[in-house]
Amino acid sequence: MWNFGLDFALPWKCVLCDSPDDNAQVSINRTSYCTSCTEKFEAAIADVDQSCERCGAVLGPFVPTDSPCVHCRDKPLKFDSVSCLGMYGETIRDAILSAKYSSSTVGLEALCRLLVQERCQQLRGIKPDLVMPIPHHWRARLTRHFNSAAVIAESLSVAIGAPLEDQTLYRSRLTRLQKRVDLKDRFENQKGAFGLRNPELLKGKRVLIVDDVLTTGATCSEASRLLKSAGAKTCHVAVIARVLDSSA
Ligand SMILES: [Zn+2]
Ligand SMILES: [Zn+2]
Repeated sequence: MWNFGLDFALPWKCVLCDSPDDNAQVSINRTSYCTSCTEKFEAAIADVDQSCERCGAVLGPFVPTDSPCVHCRDKPLKFDSVSCLGMYGETIRDAILSAKYSSSTVGLEALCRLLVQERCQQLRGIKPDLVMPIPHHWRARLTRHFNSAAVIAESLSVAIGAPLEDQTLYRSRLTRLQKRVDLKDRFENQKGAFGLRNPELLKGKRVLIVDDVLTTGATCSEASRLLKSAGAKTCHVAVIARVLDSSA
């Protein structure tokens, strides 16, 4: 009789383009995106068989998929593999930027659902014992609505059934924003950026490190170095997108 829930239910809108969907039921079940945006994502999602396992770069149809690849072979990356939805091109870039700078976490959660849907086998295959977001420094928290990495990590942890551990890894110093640092200096900029609480918790663990995008890999690599120095067995990285250095 008092059917307020239905009366006040908001009409469905695509998380990315805001349009009411022509086929909402299908999209809600799949990704929260309308049919048109879903089609754009389908074109943007990378083929795992043509990607470098170590750094997540998509290598094109005629490039050998040996790992390390041309984009990572000269880099001192300390993590073991990267899972991502695709390269930081139009659709994925627009979705990440609108989600990151929104006042709500809905956009990031939708991207995370898409990541899990597309990379389920890869992520479960890692068998992570812990899911860890790349943390913000406490001063960055004062000016942001949320830490994208933390939102994605929380959703990922629920979706793949691995515990979230967001207290152990912390920022020990405020680094310059990576996007404002020359690519060649980004590894140096991240040195000593993290600290650990309860490092004993990491012994023999497979850790899934989570961030929104991966460019040079310097941030996730420095976190991996520290986690492994405390006894983590493997460190894998999950991000929404891989940015090639030349397009950063
Ligand atoms: Zn849409
Ligand atoms: Zn590579």
